[in-house]
Amino acid sequence: MERSFERYFRQNHLPHLWCPGCGNGIAMKAIVQAIEQKGLSQDNTVIVSGIGCSSRASGYMDFDTLHTAHGRAIPFATGIKLANPDLNVVVITGDGDCTAIGGNHFIHGCRRNVDLTVVMFNNNIYGMTGGQASPTTPIGAKATTAPYGSVDRTFDACELAEAAGATYVARSTAFHVTHMTNMIAAGLDNKGFSFIEAMVQCPTAFGRKNRMGGPADMMKWMRDHAVMKAAWDKLPQEKREGKFPIGCFLQTQAIDYDTAYDQVIKRAGGAAK
Ligand code: SF4
Repeated sequence: MERSFERYFRQNHLPHLWCPGCGNGIAMKAIVQAIEQKGLSQDNTVIVSGIGCSSRASGYMDFDTLHTAHGRAIPFATGIKLANPDLNVVVITGDGDCTAIGGNHFIHGCRRNVDLTVVMFNNNIYGMTGGQASPTTPIGAKATTAPYGSVDRTFDACELAEAAGATYVARSTAFHVTHMTNMIAAGLDNKGFSFIEAMVQCPTAFGRKNRMGGPADMMKWMRDHAVMKAAWDKLPQEKREGKFPIGCFLQTQAIDYDTAYDQVIKRAGGAAK
């Protein structure tokens, strides 16, 4: 295959520091493929990330990038979008960054319907800081902070985004690469808050602790437990046990934050952007 994607990456920042077999690279590549699929200009696209293993991606991607503070990628991205609505703004965040430290920013970004594409790399754990349980760690799964299994109920980040007001919500996995690319590409099309949960394997902090085997085994687990939404909708409740849906869960329209602000500016007698 033509190696045309090299131009999207900062060669002098590679090789990356992710562990061998980590799924983050697959999700990062899917974002770049979606950007290429949609024909977005590299010079007109900004990548904003928070803190964590996933958020290292912004350092490798040759766009205008911002590696921000823990949990704060969405507010930084909101500021960029309001300052220059012509930019395509993509946020890369992790499950801890997005739903714990940045949880409030996440729900209010959804509520405001800011025109951002937020891709949450969900590895079910805090990888970079040593394997602490995150809000998406499954009940009963082990973490360094939950050596006998987590008792906290798990956030479904897609349901959270839907309930909070996002206008595009989807999930995919590192096993379903083309599907993941398509889910992100559709998010880039949406004028409003797009949320894509990209499930990625973390063989080091999550897989090892939970005896899930190597990276390939973890990807096979995703293959065997993910169910496409159309099939999921027809699945009786008892057959859903232990499985999870992937696909587009919500695609709707609502006024986005830039447009709403333009209307306020006009009402106040100013010139809209
Ligand atoms: Fe990837 Fe996990 Fe290693 Fe972080 S700790 S780089 S998420 S495999």
